[in-house]
Amino acid sequence: MIYLDHNATTPLDPRVLESMLPFLRGAWGNPSSPYRFGQEARAAVERARSRVAECLGCRPVEVLFTGGGTEADNLALRGVVRALRGRGRHVVTSAIEHPAVLRTCAALEADGCRVTQAAVGADGVVDLAAVERALGPDTVLLSVMHANNETGVLQPVAELAELARARGVPFHADAVQTAGKLPLRLATLGPDLLSLSAHKLHGPKGVGALLVRHGTPLDPLLTGGEHERGLRAGTENVAGIVGLAEALALACGTAEAEAARLAPLRDRLEREVLAAVPGARVHGAGAPRVPNTTNLAFPGIDGESVVVALDLRGICASTGSACSTGDPEPSHVLTAMGASPRDAQGSVRLSLGRDTRAEELDVVVRALVEVVEQLRAISSL
Ligand code: PLP
Repeated sequence: MIYLDHNATTPLDPRVLESMLPFLRGAWGNPSSPYRFGQEARAAVERARSRVAECLGCRPVEVLFTGGGTEADNLALRGVVRALRGRGRHVVTSAIEHPAVLRTCAALEADGCRVTQAAVGADGVVDLAAVERALGPDTVLLSVMHANNETGVLQPVAELAELARARGVPFHADAVQTAGKLPLRLATLGPDLLSLSAHKLHGPKGVGALLVRHGTPLDPLLTGGEHERGLRAGTENVAGIVGLAEALALACGTAEAEAARLAPLRDRLEREVLAAVPGARVHGAGAPRVPNTTNLAFPGIDGESVVVALDLRGICASTGSACSTGDPEPSHVLTAMGASPRDAQGSVRLSLGRDTRAEELDVVVRALVEVVEQLRAISSL
């Protein structure tokens, strides 16, 4: 198998599994229990919190553990809107967010909030002037992702943080696709809230974190115990949290070298596909992108058929968000960038990772060229 869908999920790093096992086997105490057996689990959770904070460049008290990226996004959006309900009911976001943000915005709208989606340019970068215009006196939250999961296009998070700070509006950045991929302490870019997810960086599924900068207004979504400073009730997923911290520390330690290794591999893959397939293009090619992602347009065929044909050759690829698989609508991200429905429909995302080798990409380029030619010969699009 050649796995080129690392933006969907990544394999668990064996070192991460090793770090988790003690908390699934012997040290299974409840971190809230007062005796020593429970306090060993508490110490592991707090050690993990410090490691995550160190990687992000924030204080340990600013890290909340959640059940993944989707929950972190929900907590950020719903939690801030609820905490600031006395101040306003307006949220600004972008047109290219992950469904964890966009559908949460739709739910907030159904509850009486007003939501403005700032447009993106043809390169997939959010229009800063549109964001600036949208921020008003009743705006209680700005939420714009750091890197888009479908195209890898990076958003100007530091500039957005400036804009939001100047207006006293809390700013949330979904960094699920950048945590561990870029040699950056993400908190230093300035967002007040930042989401990440362990399974995108060789950690376990179902665990993530929300950075909440000190002083950011936030109400909890779950009612229950006083876990996570009363902001996320529920007995901690100790092994998952330990695994998240280990995975993040490993990824942050190698992010610079991995980015330097992957960018030329990705760029060569793009050059070879563009040279061999007439009419092919790369969505977001002109914008800064995370080094592992490419989104290729093959107008005139269906991206879903390409993914199926690649699967038959042992290659895992995607048409975009894993959450939209089976969704016949063209990608909201690509259409927001001005792609025609025909271009958007014929798009395939390849996302490289730690285990990707140059020889594999040679196989993938050959397979893509053949598959596209075959599908074009029979396509009615
Ligand atoms: N945000 C982005 C940008 C994502 O790519 C994903 C996963 O695809 C999520 C949020 C959701 O994360 P999780 O799968 O941990 O719920």
